[in-house]
Amino acid sequence: MTKIMMFTVREHEREAAKAWAMEHNVEVTMSEEMLTMDTVEQLKGSDGVTTQQTGKLDERVYERLNQLGIKQIAQRSAGFDMYDLEKASENNIIISNVPSYSPNSIAEYAVTSALQLVRKTHLIDEKVLEKDFRWQKPIMAKEVKSLEVAVIGTGRIGQITAQIFKAFGSKVVGYDLYPNEQAKPFIEYKDSVEEAIKNADIVSIHMPATKDNHHLFNEKLFAKFKDGAVFINTARGSIVDTKALIKALDNGKISGAALDTYENESHYFPKDFRGRDISDPVLAELQKRSDVILTPHIAFYTDMAVKNLVDGGLDAALSVIETGTCETRVN
Ligand code: NAD
Repeated sequence: MTKIMMFTVREHEREAAKAWAMEHNVEVTMSEEMLTMDTVEQLKGSDGVTTQQTGKLDERVYERLNQLGIKQIAQRSAGFDMYDLEKASENNIIISNVPSYSPNSIAEYAVTSALQLVRKTHLIDEKVLEKDFRWQKPIMAKEVKSLEVAVIGTGRIGQITAQIFKAFGSKVVGYDLYPNEQAKPFIEYKDSVEEAIKNADIVSIHMPATKDNHHLFNEKLFAKFKDGAVFINTARGSIVDTKALIKALDNGKISGAALDTYENESHYFPKDFRGRDISDPVLAELQKRSDVILTPHIAFYTDMAVKNLVDGGLDAALSVIETGTCETRVN
């Protein structure tokens, strides 16, 4: 029987992995450990491997995998920057990823957090907890239909976000380095980020982090936002200069922000910090502000996304074992 080993298994993945193993008649062994020079020895007798590495993979692992007769590593995430693709290729190791596992999950989350901010549900919840049931100006909302939404980055997730807002009746504008023909019926494209954000009540970003867009959303750009706009980041923390965002919140330029990613999140997300101090003062500030909805990189986290990640990793490993390649290879 074909044997595939899963590293870095999280509790919520086990059910999907068992179902996949039954369906494909493959033996899937699971370990919570990372793939390292020590744990790679557990692959003796296996035909394939899937993992969810977070840090850089020790490059000696490629050579050892080759010696063990394993021809691939299937990463269970979209990102694959933890691998040295050249080193992997030199050792005949195919690296694959799961490029898209549920764009709807992230888009729906972006819209949910925008609605929370616009309809002030986070503030209403606080008041109700205090048994303050009055109708007062700070919790008066806006009608979503009458708002303008700017979607920055109009790929898979951005387009779904745009379509959901369009269904509310909102005006949707957008900016992308490469405007997408099929999105033109529901996104009014602008020629620059500045043009896209200038009249927007909601700005939602959906582009990858690149070296060119580090701190693209900085003091200068926030100053060009419409007064009182809300800002949603379910993309990557590094795209936003968080200190500049806090300044824009302080001076009222931005009325609220929903941040599912934060530029220095890796030490904290997704970990249990109950009873411990947050030593990062910027994160500590975000966590306690009532005009910020901070969440731990969780927009993707649905049963559908978890199943698609598990299936995507195992499918890619099995494909390389059976055919010598897979559709999602990145080297
Ligand atoms: P995608 O590749 O389908 O779309 C990204 C779009 O961004 C592309 O159209 C690209 O042309 C555009 N783009 C790139 N750089 C740009 C720039 N500087 N300005 C404007 N547009 C730019 O990707 P996707 O599947 O839609 O994912 C988008 C991002 O969502 C991912 O890169 C990732 O950062 C983030 N994401 C977050 C979560 C989460 O749980 N929070 C989960 C998955 C993905």
